[in-house]
Amino acid sequence: STIIKKLFLEGKMVTVNTEIDFAGAEEIALEYEIMCEKEVKVDMIEELLKEEEENEADMTSRPPVVCVMGHVDHGKTSLLDAIRETNVISGEAGGITQHIGASVVKINDRKITFLDTPGHEAFTAMRMRGAQSTDIAILVVAADDGVMPQTVEAINHAKAAGIEIIVAINKIDKPGANIERVKQELAEYELLAADWGGNTEMVPVSAHTREGIEELLEMVLLQADVLELKANPDRMARGIVIEAKLDKGKGPVSTVLVQKGTLHIGDHIAAGANYGKVRAMTDDRGNRITEAGPSTPVEILGLSGVPNAGEVFVAKETANEAKAFAETFIADSKEKLLEGTKYRISLDDINSQIKAGNLKELNIIIKADVQGSVEAVKQSMLKLSNEEVEVKVIHGGVGAINESDVILASASNAIIIGFNVKPDAQAEEIATREKVDLRLYSVIYNAIEDIERAMKGMLEPIY
Ligand code: GDP
Repeated sequence: STIIKKLFLEGKMVTVNTEIDFAGAEEIALEYEIMCEKEVKVDMIEELLKEEEENEADMTSRPPVVCVMGHVDHGKTSLLDAIRETNVISGEAGGITQHIGASVVKINDRKITFLDTPGHEAFTAMRMRGAQSTDIAILVVAADDGVMPQTVEAINHAKAAGIEIIVAINKIDKPGANIERVKQELAEYELLAADWGGNTEMVPVSAHTREGIEELLEMVLLQADVLELKANPDRMARGIVIEAKLDKGKGPVSTVLVQKGTLHIGDHIAAGANYGKVRAMTDDRGNRITEAGPSTPVEILGLSGVPNAGEVFVAKETANEAKAFAETFIADSKEKLLEGTKYRISLDDINSQIKAGNLKELNIIIKADVQGSVEAVKQSMLKLSNEEVEVKVIHGGVGAINESDVILASASNAIIIGFNVKPDAQAEEIATREKVDLRLYSVIYNAIEDIERAMKGMLEPIY
């Protein structure tokens, strides 16, 4: 519209479908120089990050990557600790786990990789940057407390990412534990226990007595078999940064998860605007290693700077290629570069996106002051679906709009509707930064009408 307006002021009547000759296009391009360069750069980055096609014959099975989610105090940290300790007792050499942000557990001679930062926020924050880190989520629910608000958040974050959920019903050693009640409550969120005829495995455990932990890990392996997780180990490594810091003595220290290929000492790598040669590699037990295959977390030394968590890392044939990769990111951060072009849904352009065929699902998150309103708004929203676009409520809950809601919206390209609630300060800040469309209402009818009008392209603009 900016360009049409500019041309209009020059006396040239054009529409969005008008072809412009080369000279004319060049003139416009020159005038909007910065924007054009930016677009080219974004293209370059997308090209750099593009995945090569893999040959099925080169793929071999790889360990599952698992994260632990659940309500605060339901035992996520205790369970992770218990899992690691169970493993040490079962005779694994190397002893005490070193904290590198992820750990590998061995059971029945097979491996499972655990991401050490519990919680769905950490998980979705990575996804927000475009990285899918996890295959399976263990949802921890305390047997004496049942389903709580963050349990629901975790369920919806995992579902939005399309990852498998295995439930660990924790604290079964406690007198108030009621396993059946937890199953019943989870059924309300479409997680039906396998022994109740459903598809979700639910394993009663105690992080304290360690009862059920082996069964839980076996269930993870079974699920991994169903998912047929595979990767090609014989190619240049590629993966994501799990965490990174600056160490006074060692320089930038990064924990990366190798997702494809094998990373070796001496490989030239780049992660975001940083590049270098892998000088040293340490596994989760603190052992020096020389190579790391798919699903292996390793701490590496040798990058020129500290990359962001969630950033993609790649190994390259030569130092120059790695440097060139990183330099594409240097002038500006990738996030900043992508900001201008990253497609963010907003009520104002839903209709044009539907018309352009870009939007088949409209994702909505509903927060309200009472559960009754969440349900009422949800049911009305779902009814707005038509042949062109399906309206999906990916999360609904009672309470203020929080950080978790906003990162979920950002990662899943959703619109947030608040009914008689407001965003908290942190949520508001992230929503602004991530350009998440957040709408507040006090009359249900107005919310429904706005979405309906937006879908039809009749929304009155807000100034
Ligand atoms: P997180 O917030 O989900 O990481 O929960 P924590 O792991 O910090 O656990 C919260 C509290 O519950 C702590 O006091 C733990 O000792 C306790 N807890 C965790 N797991 C169990 C369990 O299996 N049995 C009992 N009795 N207490 C547990």
